Amino acid sequence: MMEAEEQQPWKTTFYSELPKVELHAHLNGSISSNTIKKLIAKKPGLKIHYQMTMIDKGKKRTLEECFQMFQIIHQLTTGPEDILMVTKDVIKEFADDGVKYLELRSTPRESATGMTKKTYVESVLEGIKQSKQENIDIDVRYLISVDRRGGPSVAKETVKLAEEFFLSTEDTVLGLDLSGDPTVGQAKDFLEPLLEAKKSGLKLALHLSEIPNQKKETQVLLDLLPDRIGHGTFLNSLEGGSLDLVDFVRQHQIPLELCLTSNVKSQTVPSYKQHHFGFWYSILHPAVICVRCFVVRPMIRVFLQHTFLKSTSWQLKHFI
Ligand SMILES: [Zn+2]
Repeated sequence: MMEAEEQQPWKTTFYSELPKVELHAHLNGSISSNTIKKLIAKKPGLKIHYQMTMIDKGKKRTLEECFQMFQIIHQLTTGPEDILMVTKDVIKEFADDGVKYLELRSTPRESATGMTKKTYVESVLEGIKQSKQENIDIDVRYLISVDRRGGPSVAKETVKLAEEFFLSTEDTVLGLDLSGDPTVGQAKDFLEPLLEAKKSGLKLALHLSEIPNQKKETQVLLDLLPDRIGHGTFLNSLEGGSLDLVDFVRQHQIPLELCLTSNVKSQTVPSYKQHHFGFWYSILHPAVICVRCFVVRPMIRVFLQHTFLKSTSWQLKHFI
């Protein structure tokens, strides 16, 4: 009679109070339903219903549908004031959830209403700054994202922007993220800008091996020796992964950002039980559990063992 009533609140409190890091938070994918409702109210003419931007509990969508959801969210965030509000709300909600160190990642966008890529980045940074001034108990950094859909020329512009803010923000802009629809473009197209970023001292967090049968593409990105891997879903899989890839990642001790709920919801992994976390955990490879997006609150961001955290020390140097 007691378990159901007593254990659940205990668990909720425990996980909420546990100090956590979140290393894979796409800004536009971390927007809560409350913030989405505020954005929709500001733009009633778009006729967007908030359910078009969320995956409800127990529901799933394909990876393609998930990227379509991002497009809808982008329509709602077209001005610097939208980006500022979203950044502050997201930071506050992560802090309320017990996250002590947060890395946001987001692609600078311009809009017809006059937002430039530079003002986009400035708005995110302003949100981080204001949150700090309001004494919210969380340390926030920013990885500037390169969206694969933009191709190499946009990637080069983004790297220039990242370099500029890397130099001017004193450790808030830490690095570059490569993300976006993994079926678009080829890794080799992004080598030049990514190498340029690396040379400038920007850290690299690269989404790779998110979909099956990308062995060559994956190796191209791994050869850059990224500081962290996003997902790496098929690295160890029969569908396009290989022992060579796994050995390479192990040999170079490249940490993985593993987003269990996101992968199951977007159906790149059939179930939690079959998630590749189990494989990497079994060989004690550095990995951290993340939330990513499309999940408003249910996933638990957990500190893994201290040894795991140490391997991601570039972003945690102020924290442990
Ligand atoms: Zn991601």
